[in-house]
Amino acid sequence: MELTEAGRTAWDAIVAQPGTTLLCTDFDGVLSPIVDDPTAAWAAEPAVAALGRLAPRLAKVAVVTGRPARQAVHLGRFDQRERLGSMSVLGLYGFERWDAATGTFTEPDAPSGVAAALAELPAVLGRLGLADARVEDKRLSVGIHTRELPDPTGAFERLRGPLAALAERHGLHPEPGRFVHELRAPGVDKGEAIRGLVDEVDPRVVVYAGDDLGDIPAFEAVRALRATGRVSALLICSGSDEQDALVQLADVVVAGPEGVARLWEELADAVAG
Ligand SMILES: [Mg+2]
Repeated sequence: MELTEAGRTAWDAIVAQPGTTLLCTDFDGVLSPIVDDPTAAWAAEPAVAALGRLAPRLAKVAVVTGRPARQAVHLGRFDQRERLGSMSVLGLYGFERWDAATGTFTEPDAPSGVAAALAELPAVLGRLGLADARVEDKRLSVGIHTRELPDPTGAFERLRGPLAALAERHGLHPEPGRFVHELRAPGVDKGEAIRGLVDEVDPRVVVYAGDDLGDIPAFEAVRALRATGRVSALLICSGSDEQDALVQLADVVVAGPEGVARLWEELADAVAG
């Protein structure tokens, strides 16, 4: 496995002093393969087993995901495994949390702006003759989908202005996607989640593994921390044909979830000595 010099420094520090290490990992595309049905994206057993070997020895193992915490725990079967004591799952980009040590979920109420926008949506869609648009409540955001409407592109464009205005009224950010307008609560991303964990754990080494655009804020947060000299860091890209945005930011690129699982196994072996 080829690591950057900074990555090698971090690896050696983990092996020398595992108890000062914060290991963070994304879920989809990193612990679990990307599959057509997202409700069937089970974590790879070898990856979870290796994390189970690491969790008792490291300061903390944290899964940081855009999924709700409850769903990630279910798909990782984390609640069915012993000795995951230091593991936490940060769901919805850190808005929700599950701790293995206590088995408890923390799931705060959604930001009031999201609920208010949801309540106003039927009237907004009705005025535009788009009452059939599919509305998806994702707690931290609302998605308005036009893919299933007779004229998806026309409907998407007609919604742009009114939804931007609706977002502004409720303090949300409008984010257009592929035939979907998302109205998102601000201030929640994986970078914030990582900074929170670092404040909590005060590690000497930080590891992060990701595969997609949503992981960029986490990579940037870890790189900024490393630049201060406060920690050494190992950034892992779970490589795929679909996304290469993280390659330049990573210390090592491995071949998808299988490569990630092998890396966790190698690390667990090294830490076990
Ligand atoms: Mg992912």
